[in-house]
Amino acid sequence: MDCLFCKIVEGSIPSNKVFENENLLVFHDIVPAAPVHVLIIPKKHIDSMNEVTTEDLPLIAEIHQVAQQVAKDLGVNESGYRLINNCGPDSGQAVQHLHYHLLGGAKIGALTGISSSHQS
Ligand code: AMP
Ligand code: ZN
Repeated sequence: MDCLFCKIVEGSIPSNKVFENENLLVFHDIVPAAPVHVLIIPKKHIDSMNEVTTEDLPLIAEIHQVAQQVAKDLGVNESGYRLINNCGPDSGQAVQHLHYHLLGGAKIGALTGISSSHQS
C-alpha cells in the first residue's frame, strides 16, 4: 500500500521516534507547529476516523493512554497540550492514515475555525 505512515511504520521512511510498542508509533512531526509536535499513529492502517470500527476501540483507548505518557515524557503534561485528529477534506487531513497530533510547549492559539473559502 502506498501510504507514507505505513512506510514509516515499516522503517522504509525514517522518523524521529518518541515511543513505539506492538500497536502504536509516536514520532516528531516533520513540520512542527509548536515546540512539541508529535504524531501518534496505530501501526494498523486505518484511513481515517471514519473507518474506525468497534474492534479498533481498544486501539483508540491505547492512543489516549500513550498520549498521556508521551506528554509526560516530553514535559508538557503540567503545562498542557492539545490532541487533534483531522478527518477528511474539510479538516485538511493530508495523510490518509489515522493519526493524532499532540501539540504543546507553548500557548496553543484558539481553534481557527472555518477558512475564508468556506465563508459566504
Ligand atoms: P494531517 O494534515 O492531519 O494529515 O497531518 C499530517 C502531518 O504529517 C503534517 O503535520 C505533516 O507535517 C506530517 N508529516 C508529513 N510527512 C511526514 C514525515 N515524513 N515525517 C513526519 N511527519 C510528517
Ligand atoms: Zn497507512
